[in-house]
Amino acid sequence: MYPPVFDYVRAGSIEEALDLVNERGGKFLAGGHSLLPVMKMRLADPGLLVDIGRVDGLRGISRKGEYYTVGALTTHAEVAAVDDGGFPAALLEAAGMIGDPQVRNRGTVGGNVAHADPASDLPPVFAALGATMVVASNRGKGRGAMQTREIAATEFFTGLFETALADDELLVSVNVSAEGPGVGSAYAKLYNKASRYAAVGVCARLAVGADGACTSCTVAVGGLVPNATVLTDVGAGMLGRPVDSQTIAAAARVAAAAELDVMSDIHASARYRRQMLPVFVARALTSAGERSHLGASGPDTGASR
Ligand SMILES: Cc1cc2nc3c(=O)[nH]c(=O)nc-3n(C[C@H](O)[C@H](O)[C@H](O)COP(=O)(O)OP(=O)(O)OC[C@H]3O[C@@H](n4cnc5c(N)ncnc54)[C@H](O)[C@@H]3O)c2cc1C
Repeated sequence: MYPPVFDYVRAGSIEEALDLVNERGGKFLAGGHSLLPVMKMRLADPGLLVDIGRVDGLRGISRKGEYYTVGALTTHAEVAAVDDGGFPAALLEAAGMIGDPQVRNRGTVGGNVAHADPASDLPPVFAALGATMVVASNRGKGRGAMQTREIAATEFFTGLFETALADDELLVSVNVSAEGPGVGSAYAKLYNKASRYAAVGVCARLAVGADGACTSCTVAVGGLVPNATVLTDVGAGMLGRPVDSQTIAAAARVAAAAELDVMSDIHASARYRRQMLPVFVARALTSAGERSHLGASGPDTGASR
């Protein structure tokens, strides 16, 4: 299948990319693993592709104090290869579970969240981790200028393939908190056997006090709902309790009863996804609990599977 005719420009800087899209419209091109297929299916006809693939300042991971900044152009393979004990275990784990080596080596964090496929792994991970999206535009500022704003991940994913990003805004990076002793996070997913996208994806992040009781917990789901959704009641039910099998079983029951707009498609029925949800909530909470006691030991990323 051939895509519609389009112009192509490679941007040399963030400012140039913003100028081009502001003046001529079109779409940013990162790894192309989602944009090119939807163009070939004639679901998108942007007219202009602004290639940001070689723009400095969009790639790589750095730590400043308690935060990691993940550049939008960082590939899933680069995230899965982070070797730093404080890096969020769930993010490391989820990145290693994405697609196959080819997808992980081309697909980018920015493209993944901007595309907001409901079956993507990173949206629920960033929602559960309380991440912040840093977004740039030059609206009203003139050529060569740039302004930024921050959007909480919980407000970024607004619907099926929809985000809070405006057409002329570029995602620059995602900020996530470091994890230390007493904090643990994990991602568990039911794979679509063909594409390896998530039929159900669950991320849990929790903290425990010296007495072993849970002091904070956020659980977010993807795959089965149109956009990443935080299960508020599940997190609230964990508070003050030991992170043990009884507490986790109770949390899974709360998840099973959550009011959600569960989707059905050729890969899995809504009923099946709904039945799998508590299973994967329990798995994510169990791993996050174990990691909180261990002090965020690195997960098996599964990148070689
Ligand atoms: C066979 C296959 C299997 C896959 N399996 C999985 C999986 O298991 N789990 C999973 O989560 N994902 C999966 N993916 C998706 C993949 O991981 C990529 O993340 C995804 O395709 C988008 O990243 P990209 O860099 O290719 O973005 P592109 O395709 O280049 O862009 C996607 C969209 O995001 C926009 N965009 C890109 N970068 C930015 C930016 N910085 N700011 C603003 N807008 C931007 C583009 O304009 C476009 O609209 C799979 C993809 C394929 C092809």
